[in-house]
Amino acid sequence: MKATGVSRCIDELGRIVIPKSMRNKLGINSGDPLEFRLEDGSIVITPDKGRCSFCLSDEGLESFKGKSVCRACLNELKSVE
Ligand SMILES: [Zn+2]
Repeated sequence: MKATGVSRCIDELGRIVIPKSMRNKLGINSGDPLEFRLEDGSIVITPDKGRCSFCLSDEGLESFKGKSVCRACLNELKSVE
């Protein structure tokens, strides 16, 4: 990823403001869940799109009765009758 040169100070509670330009670029809004992970000594923050309620996959998610379900599990559910 290209360095943008934006610097922020962390406060005494560990909070930090994500620059508005970056939030706008990724479509991150107030109240959105974010995922943190450590990667080679850096903290990587990505929008958390949620995970499948059954297998915890984060790919091909669809919403079913307010729950996130991946397409594979959705197909399995459809075939159970
Ligand atoms: Zn699944």
